[in-house]
Amino acid sequence: MLPFSVLAHDSGSRARRGTLVTAHGAVQTPAFMAVGTRATVTGLTPDDLAQVRTQVVLANTYHLLLRPGAELFRRVGGIHGFMRWPGPVLTDSGGYQIFSLAGDRTISEKGARFKSYVDQRMHMLSPEASIAMQTAIGSDIMMVLDVCIESTADESATRAAMERTHRWALRSLAARSNPQQALFAIVQGGVVPALRRASADFLTQQPFDGFALGGLAVGDTRTQREEVTHFAAELLPAQRPRYLMGVGTPPDLLVAIGAGIDMFDCVLPTHLGWQGTAFTSTGRVRITRGANAHADVPLDAECGCATCKSFSRSYLHYLFKCSEPLAPRLLCIHNLHHYHTLMAEARAAIEAGCYATYARRRLEAIDRHEHSDVSMTPV
Ligand SMILES: [Zn+2]
Repeated sequence: MLPFSVLAHDSGSRARRGTLVTAHGAVQTPAFMAVGTRATVTGLTPDDLAQVRTQVVLANTYHLLLRPGAELFRRVGGIHGFMRWPGPVLTDSGGYQIFSLAGDRTISEKGARFKSYVDQRMHMLSPEASIAMQTAIGSDIMMVLDVCIESTADESATRAAMERTHRWALRSLAARSNPQQALFAIVQGGVVPALRRASADFLTQQPFDGFALGGLAVGDTRTQREEVTHFAAELLPAQRPRYLMGVGTPPDLLVAIGAGIDMFDCVLPTHLGWQGTAFTSTGRVRITRGANAHADVPLDAECGCATCKSFSRSYLHYLFKCSEPLAPRLLCIHNLHHYHTLMAEARAAIEAGCYATYARRRLEAIDRHEHSDVSMTPV
């Protein structure tokens, strides 16, 4: 069983501070995992990731199955040596990508059949095939293949998807061959409390190393997401890590930590970085906006990342306007640093027993700044 210990509880919320120990190192929780879908956090080297204090990289089974394929990972001995990332890796099972393919796949009890976008060949991603691929990848934490549907689906469709997810979770557990690789189950049930409860009840009877909340941020509102997170997190065993999949913005993380979530991943800091948006202490900044052409100030005066220590907004704006590849790279470094710093502050606040107050202040500050772009301290 994946070693996980809770070191401290917050006094004013359900937030908790923990450590989980993987074969490639310890992870301090709450933790944000950098999304490295194709065995790379786009544009960043493993050294860059270490500099911004990334603890875990999340890679994707679906994409890696299609290219470079299981054989390569078996030949080189797994993802860590291949991408030269020495730290923990979590692999998503591919369930979400299959869901996103819409018309191009058929899902049956056996698994999902789909055509490769790489070579047009047909593939079958079953629970067993997903575990076999994740075993070849050699991730520290594997996820079960789940049936992901939109949060807005009706109750009977949501129930059917949840029940198949449970059968697939048992098949995943039976298919696991390397005890060094942890396996997390995924609680489904959409935004229906009775289904979330049924899903948590079923899955927590099984010897999974951790439990994820799936099926959120797929059509639900922020309020629904927060309600489900609070409700469902309480249904999960206190002694196992809890992972909220694919969520979200800094306010989403602050609220979910208060509900007792330990692990997060989201494409936002890197995807928005590539599009020219930065998360800063004074709200989101679109670096391509005209006003930044004359802003000879750091991107975020309160940030200690390599980008903010060296470069001005006017330079970053200029690089984006010229489509220079350094531009998104510098913004991604900053955005990941911003997310990881938020988590480090949250961990310190939980240890000090004042997380509820910290989170309230941060949420108020984000609300206040979200639509302004006025950090103009001279360099
Ligand atoms: Zn910065």
